[in-house]
Amino acid sequence: MPDKGTKKKITRIDGGDASPGEGRSFTPTADSRSQALKFRIIAAVSWVIAIGFEIGAIVLLQRPPISTTWLIVLIAAALVFAVIGNLLWKKSNRLDPASEKEPVKFFIQNQLGAIISTIAFLPLVILVLTNKNMDKKQKGIVGAVAGVALLIGLGTGIDFNPPSQEKYAQETARVEQLMDNNLVYWTKSGTRYHLYSDCSAINTRKTDEIFQGTVAKARELKNINQLCRFCENKAAKEKGLQLKDVTGAEETAPAEAETR
Ligand SMILES: [Zn+2]
Repeated sequence: MPDKGTKKKITRIDGGDASPGEGRSFTPTADSRSQALKFRIIAAVSWVIAIGFEIGAIVLLQRPPISTTWLIVLIAAALVFAVIGNLLWKKSNRLDPASEKEPVKFFIQNQLGAIISTIAFLPLVILVLTNKNMDKKQKGIVGAVAGVALLIGLGTGIDFNPPSQEKYAQETARVEQLMDNNLVYWTKSGTRYHLYSDCSAINTRKTDEIFQGTVAKARELKNINQLCRFCENKAAKEKGLQLKDVTGAEETAPAEAETR
């Protein structure tokens, strides 16, 4: 069954992978690299500002009488900038992923947002709870705010599914093995990329635009790193390949995958 095409609007996304041929590793395009660098610089500046607000709050804690309102304002401001930094940093890693070959660097690069958030909020939590110039109620309120800020910082900073050059290369190789090209389809709300533009999962009523680009682009733009099992199944069958890892295709019906 060849791809019958789709009636939806297809938006072609250029670029994504600059690495050549067989047995390769993943190299991002110059474009992705420079974009990643831009995001990293903005993230670093945001984190510096966040820590600046933290220092402001720490200074405030040493000078009674301590204003609850000002402390909360400073913590909230620090949190806004920490989250901006965390999200841009994670995006930069999807554009220009680290290699798993250097585990320490890989961990630090992917979890840097969580590390910075700990630096930005954990000392505050401790200093509030051990502060001698605040009453119990004030400690409770400000401590809770700082604690919540720490949790939000960690939640946005941790990368639970960190991108790596090796994963990109592997996922790209799988698509090329099945389709002889590195071209996949995805939608705005989708969680998987597809091999066929006529896959029923991306031709539902709620979709009016389908994006087409490389495996790396799907990850960069939408953080999609899962191949639709339905498409994989179909392509493997057409190529006469063994369906070694398509078990569970049934319980992950493609239409469902799109709604998650
Ligand atoms: Zn599909």
